[in-house]
Amino acid sequence: LDLKTYIRDIPDFPKKGIVFKDITPLLKSPEAFSFVIETWASRYASRKLDAIIGMESRGFIFAAPLALRLKVPFVPVRKPGKLPAKTVRETYQLEYGTDSLEIHEDALAKGAKVLVLDDVLATGGTAEAVVRLVERVGAKVEEASFLMELGFLKGRDKLKSVPVHSIITF
Ligand code: AMP
Repeated sequence: LDLKTYIRDIPDFPKKGIVFKDITPLLKSPEAFSFVIETWASRYASRKLDAIIGMESRGFIFAAPLALRLKVPFVPVRKPGKLPAKTVRETYQLEYGTDSLEIHEDALAKGAKVLVLDDVLATGGTAEAVVRLVERVGAKVEEASFLMELGFLKGRDKLKSVPVHSIITF
């Protein structure tokens, strides 16, 4: 199965000059979607993960089924103001301005070994913020994994402190 044929390029979305990697063709193919989840499942089945972290919003789409498949807790990282209990927040740089992400401060046990999952590794700013959140609540990133990596944006360079994996690279 050639995964790249299930990812559609949308030029100039959300703004001019960005080529958006649209995963909706993959999501509407149960065959391709389960291929992705099974690829991750075989990579992580024996790693004894304590949690899988998905980041809002597209990270949720992959992290939740993988967590269920591996019988590992799913922990959401969300945009500010969405999580109801006490949170820890990280703010990170965007091309224009900043953005923030939050995690419940009691979401992970001290020393927990976690997988950070998202659909796209672009500049790495988002994943870097999630790694900092995980470390601030006392847990450890076993690996950060992505369905696809936009290699030319060098996101890996921002994630030097953790192992980085991607299923496909553009
Ligand atoms: P970054 O922080 O630059 O690594 O951006 C990662 C986040 O933005 C991920 O959550 C992606 O879902 C989204 N993203 C960035 N660039 C793209 C793109 N070209 N196509 C689709 N999603 C993207």
